[in-house]
Amino acid sequence: MRVLASIAVIPVLFVGWQLWSDHSFEQRLAPIASGIAGRSVEVNCQSLWGSLLDAKGREGEVYAILILAHESYHTAGSRDEAETNCFAIQAMAWTATELGAPQDEAELLALAMEALEPGQGTDYGTNGCHGGERLDLHPETPEFGTEFPVVPPGGLGRFARQ
Ligand SMILES: [Zn+2]
Repeated sequence: MRVLASIAVIPVLFVGWQLWSDHSFEQRLAPIASGIAGRSVEVNCQSLWGSLLDAKGREGEVYAILILAHESYHTAGSRDEAETNCFAIQAMAWTATELGAPQDEAELLALAMEALEPGQGTDYGTNGCHGGERLDLHPETPEFGTEFPVVPPGGLGRFARQ
């Protein structure tokens, strides 16, 4: 009986740890998503169990930092995928620093994603995602991809819908 109980405890502990781990991670991401959206938001990630049962086809995976920033801008009201993607690229460096990346590496991450942006296809790519152009969140500065030093995004700014 003790052996059976011991065998049953291990999966229960694993499931409990996994649920706790998922919740802790979501709690860590929520203030970052809120900083991007410019309002309080919650983060709900797909759990390990959900991903094991997820039968959706995928065309590929992308950088997790971009996804967090992208989805955060959707919660701020941005609906157009290409615009949201461009805003997310501009928030990547701040997002990375909030997750613990050194500032120089975070800036390089954003600049690398900016360089990849033209190849993202029709749904997520746009001609206006460059410094001084239509989707520049800080057209008053010459920097693009990220500001130097990195600044908190703080929502959609002049792009917020009234
Ligand atoms: Zn989207």
